[in-house]
Amino acid sequence: MKIIAGNWKMNGSKQALKEMTAELNKIDTDNAIILCVPFTMLGAETGKINLGAQDISNHEKGAYTGEISGAMLKEAGAKYVIVGHSERRQYHNEDNDIVRQKAEMAIQNGIIPIICVGETMEEKQAGKAMEIIESGVKESVPNNSNGHIIIAYEPRWAIGAGITPTHEEIEQAHSLIAKTLHSLELDETPILYGASVNGLNAGDIMSLNNVDGVLVGGASLKPDDFISIITSIK
Ligand code: PEP
Repeated sequence: MKIIAGNWKMNGSKQALKEMTAELNKIDTDNAIILCVPFTMLGAETGKINLGAQDISNHEKGAYTGEISGAMLKEAGAKYVIVGHSERRQYHNEDNDIVRQKAEMAIQNGIIPIICVGETMEEKQAGKAMEIIESGVKESVPNNSNGHIIIAYEPRWAIGAGITPTHEEIEQAHSLIAKTLHSLELDETPILYGASVNGLNAGDIMSLNNVDGVLVGGASLKPDDFISIITSIK
């Protein structure tokens, strides 16, 4: 079984979600389809499509204006939540420590965190990609994870850029993540690849070693593009 997760970022509408899920529900597939949507769309009726959020507070409750707690997300219908996305790391200065706290909150509330790790272009060029990926996993995965997490390898330089690493580079990163998860006794954890996935490259990427699915940004917003990714699984 593969996992195909979409990240709508700050896009879409309730109507767009209704139209997307109507199309997705027509697909005959045993694979898991997740759409991580803005908070306001979480209550929607989506059939067999699971909904996730894109952020969660690292606090339980209290005077944190604008934040949303794990309990609130659960009540709103989120089954998953993306934590540590590159855009949160870049625009909100989130580091592995905060990401781990957020993942902990998700797990405490029965929500599966999709923990994103990946290197910037600067880190790649400095030969530090593997180090960043390994420390990303070690420092962002909480102790209470108990197998209820997903890791997404998202090379930050490739997000929204229309370019991807080579297949060898993806396999190298995923193999390191699998090895790191093994050392944490989390062998069953699915590892997704994310960044510039589309209907043309998804099938090949999902056939690579240790790739259990994909996290899709831009191409998850258009039914035809997202369906072509889902149906490209070999
Ligand atoms: C993302 O932002 O998680 C992502 C994978 O984006 P894109 O597919 O647009 O590169």
